[in-house]
Amino acid sequence: MRIDIITLFPEMFTPVLGDSIIGRAQKSGALEIHCHQLRDYAFDKHRRVDDTPYGGGMGMLMKAEPIALCFEDICDKIGKRPHFVYMSPQGKTLTQQRLKEIAEIENVCILCGHYEGVDQRLLDEFIDEEISIGDYVLTGGELPAMVFTDALSRMVPGVLSNNECFTEESHFNGLLEYPQYTKPSVWRGKEVPEVLLSGHHANIAKWQKEKSLEVTRAKRPDLLEKIKEQQ
Ligand code: SAM
Repeated sequence: MRIDIITLFPEMFTPVLGDSIIGRAQKSGALEIHCHQLRDYAFDKHRRVDDTPYGGGMGMLMKAEPIALCFEDICDKIGKRPHFVYMSPQGKTLTQQRLKEIAEIENVCILCGHYEGVDQRLLDEFIDEEISIGDYVLTGGELPAMVFTDALSRMVPGVLSNNECFTEESHFNGLLEYPQYTKPSVWRGKEVPEVLLSGHHANIAKWQKEKSLEVTRAKRPDLLEKIKEQQ
């Protein structure tokens, strides 16, 4: 998968996406992430990427043309049109289910808004999907784009050592994950559940399934309701 990110702050991404699992995946070639400085596409006299909103109101708005030029340049570079996502508090809230679907797409481009947002005409003409990371407002789309890129990348084949790393995790099948324990087997008088030390794979799997349901019922009963509605 190739992910292109259009932003006014490309340097913010390096420390977060350049290291650890996502950084290694880029080095191994399982994943490509390219950040584009939007200011490089502002060709007017003052190289402005923002301006005051028509009709008045607080703050500045991102202009349409630099974004359009940047996106068109990305399309030319990769030889196709990527799925174009705008990180926005007005978008649909990101879910693991939607991530599974987007992970099947080969090329994704992410637009990070700033200031008061983006000229509506650009959104109407270019954007395929608006995605929110929750019902609250951040100052810019960079943190949401990092959240989206990280969650998406780990579902791309070859990024994690094994698909089980994410298929067993919370939300993948609609439930939360069962509790897990590591060494020592007794810590400050508290023992690891005996079944996990038994080596009996069927019993361990049964225990994990039961615990997964128990944890979901206790912490997120709404997820169980959602599963019921889908049946
Ligand atoms: N005026 C906009 C509104 O009321 O809908 C909010 C603009 S916000 C201050 C600036 C930028 O941050 C947005 O263009 C968007 O890219 C990003 N952003 C803020 N909150 C977000 C969220 N919850 N999810 C995704 N992106 C968000």
